[in-house]
Amino acid sequence: MNTTQSAETTTPVAPELDATDRCDSCGSQAYVRVRLQSGELFFCAHHAGEVRDSLKPTALEWHDETDRLRDEHGA
Ligand SMILES: [Zn+2]
Repeated sequence: MNTTQSAETTTPVAPELDATDRCDSCGSQAYVRVRLQSGELFFCAHHAGEVRDSLKPTALEWHDETDRLRDEHGA
């Protein structure tokens, strides 16, 4: 007899960023939203990588949807 214990469910995170959110550095579609005390900043995957080291320690929230980029390209 098979007893199933708490099955692991992965709840997909609903994307909060869409095509109207633009990178503050270059204007590309933003995939990262950084919430700072002074407000919010948006970055594309490229610029998110550039500012990560300097901004992340002080960020209140680092919302990263760059995984979607890999998904869209397919495995
Ligand atoms: Zn950018």
